[in-house]
Amino acid sequence: MRLSKLASDIAESPTLALNEEARILRERGEAVINLGIGEPKNKTPIAAILASGAKLTSGEVKYTPPDGLPSMKKAVIRYTEENYNRLIAPENVLITNGAKQSLYNIFYSILNPQDEVIVIAPYWVSYPEMIKMCLGIPVIVTPEDGTFTPRFEDIERAVTSSTRAIIVNSPNNPSGAIYPPELIEKIVELCERKGIFMICDDIYHKLTFDRNVAPPAYSFTKNDIENSHILVVNGVAKLYGMTGFRVGWVVAPRVLIKVMTNVLAQTTSCVSPVAQAAAEGALNGLQSVVEALRLHIQNNRDVVLQELKTFNGARLIEPKGTFYALIDLRAFNGNSIELSKFLLKKALVVTVPGKEFGMDGHIRISFAGSVKDITEGIARIKWALDLTSPNEIYIGDKKMIRDWM
Ligand code: PMP
Repeated sequence: MRLSKLASDIAESPTLALNEEARILRERGEAVINLGIGEPKNKTPIAAILASGAKLTSGEVKYTPPDGLPSMKKAVIRYTEENYNRLIAPENVLITNGAKQSLYNIFYSILNPQDEVIVIAPYWVSYPEMIKMCLGIPVIVTPEDGTFTPRFEDIERAVTSSTRAIIVNSPNNPSGAIYPPELIEKIVELCERKGIFMICDDIYHKLTFDRNVAPPAYSFTKNDIENSHILVVNGVAKLYGMTGFRVGWVVAPRVLIKVMTNVLAQTTSCVSPVAQAAAEGALNGLQSVVEALRLHIQNNRDVVLQELKTFNGARLIEPKGTFYALIDLRAFNGNSIELSKFLLKKALVVTVPGKEFGMDGHIRISFAGSVKDITEGIARIKWALDLTSPNEIYIGDKKMIRDWM
């Protein structure tokens, strides 16, 4: 069968592939622990359920304007004022099918073939693939070994006449790093000086620990929204644990929103009004749900740190936000794909290989789940990798025999 080369070259989502493998194992009755997926376990906030329920029972579930329901946009405008101290107009907002569609449509709307986008490693897996789908070239900037924060000089050096944007994801998936305010300020200044976009993927911006905050890029510019090069992407997936509703948004100058609206209208028409109502409900409802989630994952992060203290050979830079830890296991194997496969086979634990994030020799674990899964999962990983541990253990009633990779 003849297929598009561009589409065929797009990599499979590694997280989804690993989940599938885990699902098959679980179906066979194996006691698999999934530390792969980045998804909070909380139930949908009640305000979101009620709002979407009301929409459903109204029976008025039709197309919405392509850029989003006016009431949903209003909720985003209020959110932006409260959290970013920015006054914006409805024309500065586009509601999308998840933050993923926001990002894809941004790349589609700003890139010409061969244009470059600077991506900072470790990066979220989808950025390079999305950029390639839009015929752009991802240019990866990697921090100094042993750190997850890039040097500004390296970012600046990567800028060429073809650079159209720099994507900044802080708090960062997969490392949990928060970039310091000085770095954000310098990137804002660089983007304004060079006339390139700064795409802020702020999907984890409230999920930060120990009084750390992720400084919003807007606080470092004097430009108003129409003259700003800052594009902010956000959504309800992580903040409210509403991954399945698929609602995100972009805040940007209106000329860009107009183009992006056309792209969205011609591809997916709009976001489901039921999902938009749910997102609106979450944004307008009690915000204590976000704080409850934040406290839960901060506690889980502490459990991860505690468990790793006794894990000789594993190194971890403390996550300051998100619900991910990117563990350096180079002392055991520099090939993270082999590591992840080994851990799934020998310890029945799903992890994501760091190679997918541009950081081989590391594995990402998600600590969004239960304390029980985290402690048991890390204990199994330790057992599988530590040559001094007993040769056999039981996982459930299954005898596992450790042999080296
Ligand atoms: N950006 C980052 C950094 C993410 O981790 C994710 C989800 N894993 C997204 C964007 C996409 O979010 P959504 O589910 O809203 O599409």
